[in-house]
Amino acid sequence: MFCVRCGKEGRTYDSLCASCYLQSNRFTQLPDHLNLQQCAHCDEYLMDKRWVHYDSDLDAVYDHVAANLKVRKDAMVRDLEIDAREIDRKSYHVHVMATVAHEDLETVEESETVVRFKRDACPRCNKIQGNYYESIVQIRPTGKRFSDDEKAEILKRSVSYVETASKESRDAFMAKAVEAHGGYDLYLSTIALGKGLARNLVSIYGAEYKESSSLQGRKDGVDLYRVTYLVRLPPYRVRDIVEIGGKLYLVQSTGPHSAKLRNLKHGDNLTMTNVDLRNVKVVGTKEDVKEAVVLGEGRRELQLMHPVTFETMDVRKPQGFERKGDTIKVFLHEGELYIIGN
Ligand SMILES: [Zn+2]
Ligand SMILES: [Zn+2]
Repeated sequence: MFCVRCGKEGRTYDSLCASCYLQSNRFTQLPDHLNLQQCAHCDEYLMDKRWVHYDSDLDAVYDHVAANLKVRKDAMVRDLEIDAREIDRKSYHVHVMATVAHEDLETVEESETVVRFKRDACPRCNKIQGNYYESIVQIRPTGKRFSDDEKAEILKRSVSYVETASKESRDAFMAKAVEAHGGYDLYLSTIALGKGLARNLVSIYGAEYKESSSLQGRKDGVDLYRVTYLVRLPPYRVRDIVEIGGKLYLVQSTGPHSAKLRNLKHGDNLTMTNVDLRNVKVVGTKEDVKEAVVLGEGRRELQLMHPVTFETMDVRKPQGFERKGDTIKVFLHEGELYIIGN
């Protein structure tokens, strides 16, 4: 075989020798200008239809250029060297050296482009700016039970739930949090986020949960609903002391369906459904627990110094209780001392 252009003998490509073939063929192409969309609010970049976070502008420029380099189907890019120089704060001049392979040939092709940043709002930031929401989680206490600390804690827990969700989905955000009826109304970007948060609170606090939805209109032929999740917290919390049938119990844990309680006098455990506990009487919280000095210990009893009257009192040890220090935690109720624990 010989080259039809220069006559050189040897292997040919489309009837040309290697050097004539490479002279008249180009494998890569880059547009003169590339626009790179960046959100003016969250600074993320639109890369191949997805909004992506970059730590540095340059990395975004590299990826955008690499993604827009067109390569002929019968060739392969072996190596890509991209060099970007800032023209001004909004544009970069980019020089590309692409090492390309075609059959057994390898060549280096140079190209240049200008990448211009276009600052715009991404759909998520548009929604945030517009106070967009699809669901509301209404958190309500039972009765007056909601201390400032607890309110702050539940809001913090909800915010961190949304933050975690937003790492997995860009669509997840809290539009606003408003204090309402002794609790909070949390406005959330999606129905799934509202449902997830409501269920999370239910499972942590053993709360009651009701769902209602209303039709907001239609978009692109689809009915749009807004869903409200009412999360009513129970009257008790973990570490509270409750009275059931004249006996005192410590709330050990709460869950989506039931709570675990411990009989303070005898130490035996009891599981009760959230529904059965709905109207339980709370007689104390962890703030009411006091320290009592242990004066002596028998096989069945502890001799304690009453933390208020300083009298010596014998208190029967609950089943399975083992003292660890010189003081123990007690709860005072109607003249009696109850052992809470070490
Ligand atoms: Zn030739
Ligand atoms: Zn954005």
